[in-house]
Amino acid sequence: MRLTQLRHKLAEEELDAIVITQPHNRRYLSGFTGSDGALIVSAEATYLATDFRYYEQAQRQAPSFTLIKVKDKFPPRLAELMAEIGARRVGFESTHVTVDQRQRWAEAAEGFELVPTKRMVEDLRAIKDEGELALIRRAVELADASFAHITQWLKPGVTEKAVAWEIETFIRTHGGDDVAFDLIVGSGPNGAMAHAEPGDRRIQEGEPIVLDLGARVDGYCSDLTRTICVGEPDQRFRQIHALVLDAQEAGERAMRAGLKGSTADAIVRDLIGAAGHGERFGHGLGHGVGLAVHERPRLAKTSEDVLQAGMVVTVEPGIYIEGWGGVRIEDMVVVREREGEVLTTASKGLRG
Ligand code: ZN
Ligand code: ZN
Repeated sequence: MRLTQLRHKLAEEELDAIVITQPHNRRYLSGFTGSDGALIVSAEATYLATDFRYYEQAQRQAPSFTLIKVKDKFPPRLAELMAEIGARRVGFESTHVTVDQRQRWAEAAEGFELVPTKRMVEDLRAIKDEGELALIRRAVELADASFAHITQWLKPGVTEKAVAWEIETFIRTHGGDDVAFDLIVGSGPNGAMAHAEPGDRRIQEGEPIVLDLGARVDGYCSDLTRTICVGEPDQRFRQIHALVLDAQEAGERAMRAGLKGSTADAIVRDLIGAAGHGERFGHGLGHGVGLAVHERPRLAKTSEDVLQAGMVVTVEPGIYIEGWGGVRIEDMVVVREREGEVLTTASKGLRG
């Protein structure tokens, strides 16, 4: 199915073959999870070229691909193969291949032309099948469980780093392969930085704490943000939190097939702007999540992407005030024909 879709695209672009090296794309098409290797897909054939370290893994994970044992250098072998299958126009992933690789491939590329391509596989990956949705649901459940755990564990005086490590430990000991990205813990004024790195600052009572966390389960990611506090939140925190929450939930209700990424962003941005905080919401509304934690589609002012049923996106508005802190709330949503299906179930209360 995935290969069939890719082959349609190859035909559209008049390509005889494509070389896939981006790791998530390689995995998506073949099942091969090794960190090094290339797929070569033509109208008739599928090859997986990798070196000694991965022969056995490749045969096990990608049995329908013909294994090419790369012993020394890949480019000469690539050229031989293109001659064998008679490929003349050969695509490569221009957003992944380095300038140096391209140079070496070009030197070996006798008798065929290297053609840069973009998003050939990424656009396929944007729409999830049921198997992928099942894994994403597990990753979301694990993130939700780790959040419930940390709200019980948190107390004044612990450092941001300790919070991040406690979440990571929970994820890794409850069925996660790994965290999905470097966790974000922004306490008090640090929360004004949307991507605050956990540091040695100690959590204090009453201040907002931005927690942005995610798990990876069988390769698939989750992404969750909550802003909570220990002790009693003050009036300002309550007001800003309520505003972000209203805007966030309005965004979730709007997530349906056919909506443009820029329109989705505008629906939420207008609500925050109307309350006088427009300048304080400095990032896009959300992004697709799958094998990568940030993938297609983009929900942002300049996005041309159009939502389609089966996409999985985040809805994550925030308000950031220098010197005070930030509030961001993020859920994951499956785009459906009529309205979005919210996957995240973590509490949205101020105390978690
Ligand atoms: Zn996030
Ligand atoms: Zn996110």
